[in-house]
Amino acid sequence: MPPVVVVGGGLAGIAAAMRLIDGGKNVVLLESRKKLGGRATSFVDPRTGDVLDNCQHVLMGSCTNLLDLYERLGVLANIEWHPRIWWANPPHEPDMMMPGRLPAPAHFTVSFLRMRFLDRSDKRGVARAMWRLIRMGRDGRELWRGRSFGAFLDEMQQTQRARELFWEPIVTSACNATCARTDAFHAMYVFQGGFLQDAWSPVMGLSSVPLWSLYDPAQTMLADAGGSLRTGISALALAFDGRRITGVVTDEGVIEASAVIAAVPPDRLSKLCSQVVRRADCRLAHLDEFEFSPILGAHLFFSQPVLSTPHLVLPGRATHWLFDKGRDAHGRFHVHAVVSAADEWMELDEGEIIDRLMRDIHWALPKTVGMHPEMTRTVKEKRATFLCRPGIDAIRPTACADGVRGGINNLFLAGDWCATEWPATMEGAVRSGYLAAQGVVAGRGVVADVPPARLARILGL
Ligand SMILES: Cc1cc2nc3c(=O)[nH]c(=O)nc-3n(C[C@H](O)[C@H](O)[C@H](O)COP(=O)(O)OP(=O)(O)OC[C@H]3O[C@@H](n4cnc5c(N)ncnc54)[C@H](O)[C@@H]3O)c2cc1C
Repeated sequence: MPPVVVVGGGLAGIAAAMRLIDGGKNVVLLESRKKLGGRATSFVDPRTGDVLDNCQHVLMGSCTNLLDLYERLGVLANIEWHPRIWWANPPHEPDMMMPGRLPAPAHFTVSFLRMRFLDRSDKRGVARAMWRLIRMGRDGRELWRGRSFGAFLDEMQQTQRARELFWEPIVTSACNATCARTDAFHAMYVFQGGFLQDAWSPVMGLSSVPLWSLYDPAQTMLADAGGSLRTGISALALAFDGRRITGVVTDEGVIEASAVIAAVPPDRLSKLCSQVVRRADCRLAHLDEFEFSPILGAHLFFSQPVLSTPHLVLPGRATHWLFDKGRDAHGRFHVHAVVSAADEWMELDEGEIIDRLMRDIHWALPKTVGMHPEMTRTVKEKRATFLCRPGIDAIRPTACADGVRGGINNLFLAGDWCATEWPATMEGAVRSGYLAAQGVVAGRGVVADVPPARLARILGL
């Protein structure tokens, strides 16, 4: 029997491949690059030979499926957990947000009330909106699907300061789009499922090793299970006999397949599907309608320490986050800056980017005024994530063809852009991979969400 071919070695493809081998399938995982990881990966900086991540990737305690995958790969111990979130508040020391002793959903109350960059009326407004999010629960969130989170903030009469300094930094970082451009259903989940429902979900996880090394065990695991990982090989088309996918046409010939999991972004999948394939499966009808949102990551290397906290949110600034990456092999202090929804930054040259980032760093950390990085490396990801615009869920396809609307029975779709109820995240990608694998081999589907704490559940979450 021909193998199950997984096209794309990002998190969705890796997750699918792991579940397939657990189900006893013979798997071939195809990846066009030399290494696994897709958009959550690392590269060798040609100027220094140093390994750098394409961008800092943040996960949360609520990412149950991503954590399950890391556990399966045996790399969970490489995740460092940060219960505190630091917010710049110059000229004062940064404010800190962390779960306290009160039960969820009140666990952030004390640290939130202590945050000094919002005044009383801002905080009253935020508390009102949070209460509404708690009481509306999942059903209320469902009613907001298709509308913008900005419309919710309007309805909740949020102050301009609360929008700029509180809501925007959180939503833009989590969904990679501003409140006005994000579907309320997804932004609301960030607060309901991410912050309010329990004290573990908002804890932030960061990899302590280069991202691509998290995926190294996958190769051995595939080989041990009789499958294979083939890197540096590109799928060119899906071979279709009018009823089933029979294989994958690659730049190294055709690979026969009993089933195919396509775990590539929608624009890439669009290139693999002929008109005949598209007509045979209505899930492929909207591939060209996805829009994308960019992210800018910048590696900055200083001769002196810059940050006094492991990370810093910069409320109200164009730079959203700074991360302290410690000292590099050359003894330099490595800071990583992230700008989400970075449309305006894509056309800037490196000099202008660094000037803008440094203005924000000097604002957030006045003691750094006069400091300049010794070396920099910026990474522009123009198609970092699909745009989580209002109404997006209407075009996100399911993993499996369904009996009612038809479709190609042995073609399964995966990727952060597929229907998972998550925005474009590592967690969404892994969920999609698990769902696709479940279509091929019955077995465990997605891992359950973290359950809400008792009081949060009683109140509606
Ligand atoms: C700069 C940046 C920052 C981010 N920050 C975060 C974050 O902090 N937290 C978070 O949760 N998420 C973050 N994300 C989003 C996250 O990286 C993605 O949602 C996730 O990695 C997507 O995984 P995927 O497997 O769906 O797709 P991809 O990672 O795109 O994987 C698809 C794979 O398919 C391969 N491929 C494409 N075409 C072919 C072909 N024809 N043949 C063979 N192989 C092919 C590609 O090379 C790629 O490896 C960020 C993304 C970026 C770009």
